[in-house]
This record gives sequence, structure tokens and C-alpha cells, in this order.
Amino acid sequence: MKTTKSIQIVRATVAQWKSQRLTIAFVPTMGNLHQGHLALVKAAQKKADKVIVSIFVNPSQFSAGEDFSTYPRTEQADIEALATHHVDMLFLPPVDEIYHSQAKTHVIVSELSDLHCGAHRQGHFSGVSTIVCKLINMTQAHYLFLGEKDFQQLAIIRLMIRDLNLPIQLKSVPIVRENDGLAMSSRNGYLTSEQRQIAPKLYQALCNAKKALQQSTAPFKTIEQQQKDYLTQNGFNIDYFSICRADNLLPATSQDTELVILAAASLGKPRLIDNLCLTLR
Ligand code: AMP
Repeated sequence: MKTTKSIQIVRATVAQWKSQRLTIAFVPTMGNLHQGHLALVKAAQKKADKVIVSIFVNPSQFSAGEDFSTYPRTEQADIEALATHHVDMLFLPPVDEIYHSQAKTHVIVSELSDLHCGAHRQGHFSGVSTIVCKLINMTQAHYLFLGEKDFQQLAIIRLMIRDLNLPIQLKSVPIVRENDGLAMSSRNGYLTSEQRQIAPKLYQALCNAKKALQQSTAPFKTIEQQQKDYLTQNGFNIDYFSICRADNLLPATSQDTELVILAAASLGKPRLIDNLCLTLR
């Protein structure tokens, strides 16, 4: 595995691959890799001849008071995991390789970035769309692989690619979960052992809501409230628990068939997000 901190080396390597008519997939991450990230790598390897992974803890997607400085950084273990999985190139840029000190340009996907997580994390999605746009330009890959774990992020990047005519195809990968249902996340390491016991109830609430949607005619608001109550009783502090249309993440109505239930809630300090898609017939 080739490891580099340099955009120039990424570009030169990609140009060489392209001259050999090889296809290239790109998997952006913030490191502290787990099986969820590795599922993206494996899907990318199935699709393309060469796979680039980036590890960059992007300062601009953390708001003041969030966990940028304490975000888990496990570079050596990550390098070993990616090498074991035969990744072709790891891009590990320092912050000053990515951002010009006088940078003035930001990518904002309007409206969708203000909903759900955007309403609770000021500027977060502008930071995400800007870094993903920049990384797409740096790597010039044919395919971008993102996880469905960050469902809103995926929807925002899909719009950004469409609206800016970025020459890349977006591919999404289903959520990888622990045996007890908890969606894998680098932030799960923040949970105390007591919180870790409770954490799978977020997925349980999503499953309860899905079952209620499939088996009852209760209003969506009632179903949401029942599961919010369940989570609150179990010690969660809820940011949102919303039954939405899967295409635009707006509140779903009884006419809609392709749905996603989106949830974010904190257990003490650690904040968990999760979602569950379903089709109503
Ligand atoms: P992160 O390192 O948290 O920024 O995530 C990098 C990529 O991995 C994003 O596209 C995430 O959606 C994806 N990802 C993170 N956790 C999971 C998971 N449990 N299952 C599938 N994809 C995931």
C-alpha cells in the first residue's frame, strides 16, 4: 500500500492508473477504522481496479465545543488494517495540505443541510460538503463510496455531485452493526460500559417504529412520540427521531412509500446517530 500526505503524489498516481485504463474508487474516512469502514473498502474493491482511502479528521465539520481535539486518532492501527485489506493508496494529509490558510470558498447544499443533524450541529454539513468536494477534486476517482450510516450526509453529497456536475459516481453501502444492533461508529468508544449496554436501544426504537409503520395505521407523529418516550425513559437525550421521505428527508406523509426513520440522541456526552429504511406497500 502506498501511503502519502501529498495531493501531488495522489494526482500523479491516479494519472498513471488512468493512463493504464484502470478504474478508481475513493473512500473518505476520519480514521479509527472499524468493520463499517472496511465494508466500504470491500465494496470499493469489488467495483474498481484501484482503491484510495483517505484519513482526515476534518476540523471544519466540527463546531466549537465538539470533539475535534479528542476525536479518536489511531493512525498506526488504521494503516495496518488498510494494508491487510490490500488498499492501493492511503491519503493521510495534514490540515495545511488540505486548506489554504486564507481559504474563502465553501460548498453549501442549501435546505437539506439545515435539517436533522444540521439543525443541531451549526456549519457541520458545509464542512462535510466542502471537504468531500475538495477530496473528489484531489483524487479524481471514478467512484465515491459512502456509508448509509450517515444517511443525511449521503443525501447531501448526492445533491452536491448532481448540482456541481462532479464527474464521479456515488455508491452507498449498508450500515454495519454490532451483534446487538448498535451501528458501528468511531464515537462508540466514548460510551462508558453502562452506556454501551443501553446504546442498542436506539436501533431497537427504530425497529419498533418500523414495525408500527408496517403493522398499524397510527399517525406518524404518534409512532415517533412513542419511540421518543421509550428512548427518554432509557436515559437518552433526543435530538430528533423523524419518519421521513427517503429521497428528500422531509417529513413523510401517509402517501409516501419509500421512507427512512432518522434518529440522533445522546447518552450523557456521547451522541449516537442511526437510521432505518423501509418501503410501505
Ligand atoms: P467517518 O470515518 O465516521 O467519517 O466515516 C467514513 C465513512 O464510513 C462514511 O461514509 C460513513 O458513513 C461510513 N461508515 C461509518 N460507520 C459505518 C457503519 N457502521 N456502516 C457503514 N458505513 C459506515
